[in-house]
Amino acid sequence: MSAKNLSPVRKKLLRWYDNHKRDLPWRRRRDPYAIWLAETMLQQTQVKAVLPYYEKFLAAFPTAGALARAPLERVLRLWSGLGYYRRAENLHKAASQVMGEHRGKIPQDYDQLRALAGIGEYTAGAILSIAFHKPYPAIDGNVRRVLGRLFSVAGEKELRALALKLVPKARPGDFNQALMELGATVCTAKNQRCAECPVNLECASRERSRNNSVATRRRIKYENVIWPLAIVRGSGKILLRRRAAQGLLAGLWELPGGELTPRQKLSDLLHAHLPGLPVSRAGIKKIGEFRHAITHRRIRAPIYLFECPVSDALRLARHRWRWVDPTRIKDHAVSSMTSKAVKILANHEATSL
Ligand code: SF4
Repeated sequence: MSAKNLSPVRKKLLRWYDNHKRDLPWRRRRDPYAIWLAETMLQQTQVKAVLPYYEKFLAAFPTAGALARAPLERVLRLWSGLGYYRRAENLHKAASQVMGEHRGKIPQDYDQLRALAGIGEYTAGAILSIAFHKPYPAIDGNVRRVLGRLFSVAGEKELRALALKLVPKARPGDFNQALMELGATVCTAKNQRCAECPVNLECASRERSRNNSVATRRRIKYENVIWPLAIVRGSGKILLRRRAAQGLLAGLWELPGGELTPRQKLSDLLHAHLPGLPVSRAGIKKIGEFRHAITHRRIRAPIYLFECPVSDALRLARHRWRWVDPTRIKDHAVSSMTSKAVKILANHEATSL
């Protein structure tokens, strides 16, 4: 499509957005911090998953200052269940940077934004265009797909050049959101409803993409994983351990357990994760299992219950292990897998009464 055809695309997309955009809480906000938070939560996460977290998080930490002052554990607790916890850690770190280096104001400069923890090209473009009305593109997965289909471009360089040319000086934030909205609701990965699309007359691949959508869709390879979890119970409490401060799900509390390798025996794995605890091999009792997906991994997690006397003689390192009342699990920043396992324990208790 030539540059002269960009103007109708902009106009039609903006008009469509004005009439069809979903009423989402972050679209009612104007302050850059609230927009930054939404864009961070929405990374690799669907709108419906973010909704229950967004207002709660904003109520707890209404400003960058409030977030910077909060202990990381409290931040992780409110993020618990949303996944990709590195985002919460980076947000917390970046809030301190904003307070320390920018006198509490979110920077309006691209390079300064990119220097904040966790802010990549997409988030910087989204904040600049939505919060500060600057004509920067914001290319996420939805926008990449829509532009790819609409203009029949595939290469990343070509796509970026096009996105930069396309974003208007007037209403750049609304325009970027219109592209994202179109990708989320009309021109989706699985389906494109070209008949309802506001730019179907301009679209370079309307027919082709409809015919080839299944054949050209990228196939994701999933890895099947078995991840047994141990619930060690003593005096009505269960034992949680804390993950390392670095790496996946850093700093969260979780039930002991881990990935079972092909040649490993279940009992060896469980005992390797329960070092020094007086739990007997004979006492392993399976109380249920659940399925869970993390990025490309499909996890089956069987749950095993162990009874264990709570005693000072256990000498558990307080910073790594903690006895917790399972009915108060939400007071801790726990992984989603741990929350699911504790629900299974509650069901098991209820049905075995
Ligand atoms: Fe996507 Fe169809 Fe619209 Fe083209 S016409 S942008 S393929 S929904």
